[in-house]
Amino acid sequence: MIKKQMPKRFGPTKPMQHIPKDDGVNKTDPNRLDMLIQKATSLASNLTTSRHTSSRQNLRVIPMGGVEEVGENMTAFEFGDDIIVIDMGLAFPDDTMPGIDYIIPDTKWLEENKKRIRGVIITHGHLDHIGAVPYILPKLGDPPVYTMALTAGFIKKRLEEFGLLGRSKINVLNKDDVLALGSFKIRFFRLNHSIPDSMGLSITSPVGQIIYATDWKFDHTPADGKPTEFDKIARFGAEGVLLLMSDSTNAVKPGYCASEREIGLTIERTFGDIKGRIIFANFSTNISRIQQVFDAAAKFNRKVIVTGRSLVNNIEIALSLGYLKIQPKIIVKSEAAKKYPDNQIVILTTGAQGEEAAGLARIARGDHKTVKIKKGDTTIVSASPIPGNERAISAMLSNLTRLGSHVIYNKTLDIHTSGHAHQEELKLMMALTKPKYFMPIHGEHHMIVAHAELAKTMGMPPENIFTLDNGQILEVGSDKIAKVTTDDKISSGYVFIDGLGVGDVGEVVIRDRQVMAQDGMFVIIITLNRRDGKLINQPDIISRGFIYMKGNDDLIREVKHEVRKLVETKGKEKLEPNWAYLRNVIRDEVGEYLYQKTERRPMVLPVIIEI
Ligand SMILES: [Zn+2]
Repeated sequence: MIKKQMPKRFGPTKPMQHIPKDDGVNKTDPNRLDMLIQKATSLASNLTTSRHTSSRQNLRVIPMGGVEEVGENMTAFEFGDDIIVIDMGLAFPDDTMPGIDYIIPDTKWLEENKKRIRGVIITHGHLDHIGAVPYILPKLGDPPVYTMALTAGFIKKRLEEFGLLGRSKINVLNKDDVLALGSFKIRFFRLNHSIPDSMGLSITSPVGQIIYATDWKFDHTPADGKPTEFDKIARFGAEGVLLLMSDSTNAVKPGYCASEREIGLTIERTFGDIKGRIIFANFSTNISRIQQVFDAAAKFNRKVIVTGRSLVNNIEIALSLGYLKIQPKIIVKSEAAKKYPDNQIVILTTGAQGEEAAGLARIARGDHKTVKIKKGDTTIVSASPIPGNERAISAMLSNLTRLGSHVIYNKTLDIHTSGHAHQEELKLMMALTKPKYFMPIHGEHHMIVAHAELAKTMGMPPENIFTLDNGQILEVGSDKIAKVTTDDKISSGYVFIDGLGVGDVGEVVIRDRQVMAQDGMFVIIITLNRRDGKLINQPDIISRGFIYMKGNDDLIREVKHEVRKLVETKGKEKLEPNWAYLRNVIRDEVGEYLYQKTERRPMVLPVIIEI
C-alpha cells in the first residue's frame, strides 16, 4: 500500500545546490576560450567513458524510486544496449508539500535512453506500482508493458481515463511464461500480497540471476486460495542468485504477518454480531479484503451497495477477469436497497485513511449523495493508519460516532493485516534464494537499513549488502564483483503532479507554499512615476495569514515609512530605473524589519506599478 512519507523531502533545511561563481579560468587570460574548449572536451570525454566503455558490458541496477520512501516504486536494469523497467508507481505527498496531488519519479535518464528500453514489467496493481504509468509511458515512447491479467486490467482502465489506451501494447502474461527482453530473460513466481496476481521476478542477465521480490508476504491460506510458489523460488535459488532485491516495508516487525484467512474469520465473526447496517471502508485495490466482505455478506444474507468510482471500476475489472467470486444479485443499487431491512445491508466504500474526497469522509461529513448515517449503523474501517493520517482518521471517526454510528477500527479489532512480510518471512526468502548480494528495496531509509541488519544476522557479509538512494547505480561486471558507482548517478528526484500540471511545480513553488502556509504573505504595492521614479501615493499593504492589519496600525505605518525611505534612496542608486533591483531591496529590508518586530517570516511581495 502507499504510505505518506516523512523523511528527506523538502523543507527549509534542504541544502541548496552549490553553484561555483568562477569557472576557475583567469578572465583576463587571452587563451581563455581555448582553455574552456579544452575543459569542455575533457568533461565530455569523461562523460562518454562513464556512460559507455565502463558500463556497457556491466549489469547496472538503478532504483529510480521507492528506496527512500514507501511509494513511487520504479527500478531500471541495464545491460549493453538493453534497458528494462520494473514498475511505475506514484507516491502521495506529505504535509511539507502543500497542494500537491501525487509524486512520480524523475525519468530524465530513461527519456534520454528511451530507444534502448525493451519493455516495462509491472509486478502488481497497487497505485504505488502502476499509478505513474499514464504519466511516464508516453514520455518513453510508449514501450510495451508486460504484466498479469488483473494488473493489466487496472492499467488499461487507467490509460483509458487518460485517453492513452492503445498506445503502449499491454501484454498479459501467464505466471509460467518466460519473457526475453534484449539481454534479459524474465521468469515469474507467485507471491502473496493484498491483491491477487502479485508476482516476484527472476531476471537472468549475462552476469547472473536477480530475484526481484517487492510487495509480498508468505501466506499459506490467502484469500484467493493461491499460496506462494515456494517450489519455484527454491528452484531459482538452486540455480544460483547473484542479487536479491526484497521488500523492506515491515523489516522492523518481528515474527510473521497474519494470514488473510484469519482476517476473513474476524470479518465474518464481526458481521455476525452486528444488527444494523454495516459500512465497510477499505482500499479500492485491496481485492482480497473486498472478496472477504462479499463472502461475509453472503453468509449473513446481506446485500452490498458499492459506492465510489474507483471501487466500482476495480470490482468490475476483477469480476470480469474472474478474480472476485460473488453471489449473483448480491450487489444492489442504493435505490433498490431501500426495500431491505437494515440488517441485510452492507455499504462498501473507500476512504479508510481519512482521505477528504473519498466516500467515508463524505459520509462522516454528512454530504454523501446516497449514504446518510443513522442510529444503529456500524462503520468498520479496515486499514492501519499511514503515518501522518492519524489525525484525519480520528476526526472522521468522531464525526461518525456523533452521527450515531458505532465504529470498529483496527485498534479495537484487528480487521486489517499488512500485505508485507515480517522478519521471519524476510529471512526465509533469503534462505531460499541464497543470494551473493542483497539490496533491500521498498521502504523509507530506516526500513531499508533494518532489512540490511536482518541480512547480517543471516550471515551475509556486510560488504555484500547494498543500501542505495534513488538514482544510485549498482554495477556488476563479468567478474561478478558488485560495487556502487561513485562517479555516475542518474538524475533522480521528485516530479510533482498538481491538478493537470506534471512537473511544472518545482521545489521553488513548494518552498513558497511552505512559507505562505507557515507565516502568511505580505504584499506591498508601490505606485511610481515612470519619469522620475518618485512615489505617487502612499504604499499599499495587503497582509494575509500574517497579522491582522486592524490591530497593528503602528507596524503597518512603520513599514510604509520604511518603504518610502527605500524608494527615495535606493531608487536613485542605479542610473537606469531598475525596478527588479528596487523590488529585491524592499523585499529583503522589509522582510528583515518584520522579522525583528514579529519573529515571523511572511513571504514579502513588493509590486511596483509605473504610471
Ligand atoms: Zn502493493
